[in-house]
Amino acid sequence: MSKTDQLRRFLFDKANIRGEIVQLNEVWKTMEANHKYPAVIRQYLGEVVAASILLSATIKFEGSLTIQAGGDGPLSLMVVECRNDFGVRGVAKFKEPLPEQTDIKTLLGKSNLVITIEQAKTSERYQGIVALEGNSIAEFLETYLHRSEQLETRIFLAADEHAVGGLLLQQLPGKNDDEDSWDRITHLGSTIQANELLGLDDREIIHRLYHEEDVRLFEPEPVHFQCSCSRDKVSKMLRSIGEQEAADIIKEQGAISVDCEFCGTTYAFDEIDIAEIYASQIHSETGTTRH
Ligand SMILES: [Zn+2]
Repeated sequence: MSKTDQLRRFLFDKANIRGEIVQLNEVWKTMEANHKYPAVIRQYLGEVVAASILLSATIKFEGSLTIQAGGDGPLSLMVVECRNDFGVRGVAKFKEPLPEQTDIKTLLGKSNLVITIEQAKTSERYQGIVALEGNSIAEFLETYLHRSEQLETRIFLAADEHAVGGLLLQQLPGKNDDEDSWDRITHLGSTIQANELLGLDDREIIHRLYHEEDVRLFEPEPVHFQCSCSRDKVSKMLRSIGEQEAADIIKEQGAISVDCEFCGTTYAFDEIDIAEIYASQIHSETGTTRH
């Protein structure tokens, strides 16, 4: 099995169809580390991770794309963020014991998937609601893309403890001389097995599915794990809990320790750190009232 963390684009020139394959090994292991995910939770999180990268490669933005789900079901939160340079992070939260029925709709309960695209430069945000129509994460997203973008898309996702894989096929706008091509190419795509998506080299997958088609392959693009947490962000979060509560925690525990759920980094604050956080808040508040 090849070890890769990459996305590869390909194009059926004559049919005006684009394809992408994403495969992660090390990035996925980093994301899973420090989390004891039950197999089914791990699978759904992995599928969303693959989907977030496939979507980031089809939608133009500079900043981040986040897919989030959280409702009243046992899978209470799933959030994956992918940046336009394919820096990705994600986490899932769940309530145990999990029910016997572990299909994605049961686990999510009353919920939607929410896709948020935030442009880094302008902080402009676009939010799309993905209803749980269909029986899999891939189907939810296909239906969403059909409705919101009028783009015919097929998505295939797979995940296990070692790897994450995804295949996307999308009919591009414009003329298509070969009318049967979409049906033919998506039918061939649907024969892909999870173990192939996770275990075969991406070129082997494309060859296995499309050796009779005219396919143009692009150079693979690396995907990496990236967490955007920082001591500064945690300080801002601590400010919002209020000085009294922070003082109470310090009194009880001697320090405030905050773990990043995505990467596991621990940020510790003692009495002096906390005093500084609130002192700088007073400065910035008087600063703004002067204007
Ligand atoms: Zn982090």
